[in-house]
Order: sequence, then C-alpha cells, then structure tokens
Amino acid sequence: MKRRSFFKLGILGGVGGTLASHNLFAGNQPKTTKSINPYNSGKQPLVLSTWNHGVAANAGAWDVLSKGGNSLDAVMQGVMVTESDRSNRSVGISGMPDRTGHVTLDACIMDWEGRSGAVAYVEGYEHPIQIARQVMEQTPHAMLVGKGAEAFAAKLGMPLMKTPIPEVEKEYKEWIKSNPELIVKPIINHENHDTIGMLAMDSNGHISGSCTTSGWAYKMAGRVGDSPIIGAGLFIDQEVGGAVATGLGEAIIRIAGSHTVVECMRHGYTPEEACREAVNRIIKKNKDLTGLQCGFIAMNNKGEYGYYSVYNGFNVAVRNEQMDRLLDAPFDRKW
Ligand code: ASP
Repeated sequence: MKRRSFFKLGILGGVGGTLASHNLFAGNQPKTTKSINPYNSGKQPLVLSTWNHGVAANAGAWDVLSKGGNSLDAVMQGVMVTESDRSNRSVGISGMPDRTGHVTLDACIMDWEGRSGAVAYVEGYEHPIQIARQVMEQTPHAMLVGKGAEAFAAKLGMPLMKTPIPEVEKEYKEWIKSNPELIVKPIINHENHDTIGMLAMDSNGHISGSCTTSGWAYKMAGRVGDSPIIGAGLFIDQEVGGAVATGLGEAIIRIAGSHTVVECMRHGYTPEEACREAVNRIIKKNKDLTGLQCGFIAMNNKGEYGYYSVYNGFNVAVRNEQMDRLLDAPFDRKW
C-alpha cells in the first residue's frame, strides 16, 4: 500500500464549513440527537480504527472480541496486523524514515481502568504496541523512549530487525537526491503519514485504545508526534468513552486532542460533535491550514461512535456484529 494522500477526495463528502463550534463549558449543552449512529447501540463488541488499513486491523481485533476476549487484547492484536504489514509505509517496521534515514516508531495503549503505556523513538522493533503494553504492565512508568525503550524490548526477548527495509531505503535515497534542500529545511509533507489508531469495546462494555505510527516521513531526527502521547494521540476514560487522533501531530498535541474529545463527550457532546469541536479548535488556532489535516475518532460508553476531520479524505473502519465497513468522515473543509 502506498502512503495515502490527504488530497484523495472523500466519496460521500462532508458537511462543509457550516457547522458552528459549540460554546463548550459555558452552560450551552449541545443537542445530542445528531450523529447517534444507527449501526450500534448498547454494549455490543465494537471496533473503530483510522484509515483504509483499519479494515484489516479491525479483523485482527474482531478475532479477539468475537470470542469474548477483552478490548485491551483486541486493540493490541488489531494494530499488530498493521505494524507487520510490509506494504504499509506509515506504521511499523516498513514505515518511512526520518530525514537522517532512521525509522523511529511511536505507540501507546490505554485500557478501561485508566492504565496506560507508551514508547517513542524506538528503532528496530516490529511491534512498538507490544512494548508499550509491557511498559504499562511491567514498569511503574507511563512512557519509555529511544535507547531505554529498545533496551527494555531486548530484555523482553523481542527480536531486533533491520530498518529501513530495502524498498524503503531505496525510496529514501531517491528522496535525498531529489530534495537536497529539505535535509536542512524541514517542511511538513502532508502526503506522508497515516497512523493506525483503534478504539474497541468488548462484551462487558469495557473500552480500550491503541495508537501506533512511524510518524511523518522525513521528519527531523528526534521528532515525536501526538501518537504515543496519552491525551494527545489517545485517551480513554471509561466513565465517558475514548478517542484517538491522526494527522499533523504538532497541531493535535497543542490542543491535547484526544483528551479534548473525551472531555467534550463528558459535557454532553455526541462522539461526532466532540470530534468536530476538537477539529474546530485546531482550525481556530492555526492561521495557515495548508496541508493541516487532522482527524479524530471517538466512542462513548454507550457504544455510540463518531468521527470528524479538518479536510475531506479521512476514513474510518467500523466493525460490529452488524457491519464491517470503511466509512468517509464528515469534514470541515474541502481541499
Ligand atoms: N499523528 C501522526 C504524527 O504526527 C501522523 C499521522 O497520524 O498521520 O506522527
């Protein structure tokens, strides 16, 4: 699979820029009738994930959920499918490198008890999500980065792999040749990313989430985006629900994106309205929206879900007992 371009047009289109932002926390509770999705209600197993690769990832998660497994195992197994996909250039071992040629991976995981684990800037391990889970389960910490995270993975017996894979290395060398000036002057390339973020509810109604990425292709060495940061790339609070983000991590970090979505749901927004509010904040805070795509997906503890993005082109894989589909997200503006 080639890295997805955000310029790809959505099939169903979106709502355009007509929806006003809610006056959150100012006593104006939003109407909650909109975006209650007819496809899911109650505490049935449900899995949502970002982008086209979410369909295969959801199948991995569904193997766990359909057998009565818990949502934590489901979100780990689900995104491991994407991490292992040798054709995926934005997640896992086949991801694109930074501008110095190193493939550095970020991931985090969170469960319904509010436990979380994360790793960032990890090189040479196929499943950063497994390392993140072990950080959560075996250490007193919430995040390990770089060499420390790699040493921890080695200690767990995880095999070290060589990155970039040969195909990616070839692409990288061609990129350097054709963009010598970009090596010194970072420019955001909005065509080269696409994190897998996943939210799952199990048959007990417990919600967990995971997020894993190689980040932006040709990022500066040392750059970490939103994806491994709890509250930015992912946030779960079983009292309310969960959210995951994808897109330009810098903009998502600056509004504490996933936490914002969950807090909006806490204050009465539907999942779609909450995602739209986070998108609106990004739009308000960034004068130049060129290439600034961000998307959020969310589910609440009633099993309702929604999603929203800055631009058209974002899609979400949804699977439950009734359906297994890739849906186009509503958006604020068209490319
Ligand atoms: N959010 C990721 C990052 O900034 C990239 C993406 O989701 O497209 O690293």
